[in-house]
Amino acid sequence: MQLFDELKTLGHKHIKADKEAQNKVPTGLWISCPKCHQSFYHKDLGPYRDCPSCQYGFRISARERLAWLVDDFHEMDADLQTQDPLDFPGYQAKLAKAQTATQLNDSVLTGIAQIGQAKFALGIMDPKFIMGSLGTIAGEKITRLFETATQKKLAVVLFTASGGARMQEGIFSLMQMAKVSQAVKHHANAGLFYLTVLTDPTTGGVTASFAMQGDIIVAEPHALVGFAGRRVIEQTIHQRVPEDLQAAETVLKEGFVDAIVPRAQQKATIAFLLATNQKRRVAHG
Ligand SMILES: [Zn+2]
Repeated sequence: MQLFDELKTLGHKHIKADKEAQNKVPTGLWISCPKCHQSFYHKDLGPYRDCPSCQYGFRISARERLAWLVDDFHEMDADLQTQDPLDFPGYQAKLAKAQTATQLNDSVLTGIAQIGQAKFALGIMDPKFIMGSLGTIAGEKITRLFETATQKKLAVVLFTASGGARMQEGIFSLMQMAKVSQAVKHHANAGLFYLTVLTDPTTGGVTASFAMQGDIIVAEPHALVGFAGRRVIEQTIHQRVPEDLQAAETVLKEGFVDAIVPRAQQKATIAFLLATNQKRRVAHG
């Protein structure tokens, strides 16, 4: 019995030592992956900020992504500002905070980009701007991106990340789905190529419209891809749904996306798809 008592004391000593050590370790040095639950040193995230174990892409701002994605970029419509159509309480303060944090006027960065010799229209939604929600300005910027691409005969590459429609803009947000879809259709009718890259999370009205309208749709490893959230689905159908129901790997298996592409391969993959599509356009006049 004495042995057990000693073990107990030892256990307590360890707990105390662990707590003391914990207090001395600066927070944020160790990161736990929300998908595979492995812990690792923050520098192991590397330039792409993805999990060294399962390649899950941590949520990054549009400007962080742009830094390693392209060789050249000319931003468009950086000054458009929402009219706050519902005069929603607290919205202006929320917008100002998001604008400072992301260095964007709204939840998407748009412009004309270049990888090697390939020029294309690029949009990157920012999950850090009010959850990448789709409001009137994001809708307008993406619409203008497609219109410019159609005019200049360019392909469009769009990185999606969104919690859905922007609550603070109500019905005006929902109207963006139809508006962008119309511009996507005109671009497609001109025989031009559209690639979507679904990043974590791509949900709601964005999934229900332009995220799923790409000629080719790829996703980042373990990205959440769905329409309604898990809890809403479970409450509606009164059934538990599988843990991985909305993982990129599941939607790939079910045929909603064409491939899973980790960040380190995205630049080369985009260059390859743009070049292949260019050859097809030349071959078909
Ligand atoms: Zn992981």
